[in-house]
Amino acid sequence: MTDRLKNKVAIVTGGAFGMGAETAKLFASEGAIVAIADILEDEGPKRVAEIEADGGKARFWKLDVTNDDAWAVFVKDVLSAFGQLDILINNAGISGSAFEDPFDEGAWRNLMSVNVDGVFYGMKHCVSAMAQNGGGSIVNLSSISGNVGQNNIHHGYNASKGAVRTITKSAAVRHAREGIRVNSVHPGLMPPMRTSGATADPVIREKMLKRVPMRRNGRADEVAKACLFLASDDASYITGSELHVDGGYLAS
Ligand code: NAD
Repeated sequence: MTDRLKNKVAIVTGGAFGMGAETAKLFASEGAIVAIADILEDEGPKRVAEIEADGGKARFWKLDVTNDDAWAVFVKDVLSAFGQLDILINNAGISGSAFEDPFDEGAWRNLMSVNVDGVFYGMKHCVSAMAQNGGGSIVNLSSISGNVGQNNIHHGYNASKGAVRTITKSAAVRHAREGIRVNSVHPGLMPPMRTSGATADPVIREKMLKRVPMRRNGRADEVAKACLFLASDDASYITGSELHVDGGYLAS
């Protein structure tokens, strides 16, 4: 444990489970006070207890990232609880691999709502809070699916992660003068999401692995460490960039 995030306040959406939970724990171990925001009311408090047992500081808020009004209340609460906001990890997301029909319209709306609106609202409500504090760092979770097309995945997942990739650059340019850096992280083949369908199937995963130059899955901690780098002052001159955590997938 070092203190790369000492005295920083970080929001991690989707922080109750998966890669968000790993990121919340890593950030707390690096000295950040972490606001875990998620819809999972059972899992969130467990993550807080784990962080506190390790000597870190965290609090859970129930937040549906698709709800603009709820974001406003949440960010106000975080500011009154912790006094400042330095880091936003827009990690909450849903998978596009559980739909047979790539043109399923309900799936399209849900994917856009959680994966894109969630990121949009997060930045909308956190940018001014960060600017008041002299700046901050935002990391948006995109995917290799934001860069290339894939079989077994709804069009909306690729489109949503492509939107995350581009809004990241747009926000980086727009908010640089307020001292806010904005970058995206693009995980490749990782442990399945809670909402994964086809990509959780071992046979399909085996086929997908053949396209990964390093021939293995990524781990949640490898994504958390990439988020830590971009969130920390180690990345002080990096904004608008995309960090691929994909075992070489996008390079091949
Ligand atoms: P996960 O399903 O394990 O965790 C996602 C978290 O987001 C959960 O805690 C869930 O409750 C939360 N969430 C979902 N909808 C929400 C909402 N409306 N409001 C608040 N919270 C909500 O998934 P993961 O693997 O940890 O994925 C994290 C991020 O990384 C996602 O944005 C995902 O698209 C992206 N990603 C995942 C993979 C992968 O293979 N696992 C690959 C590339 C990118």
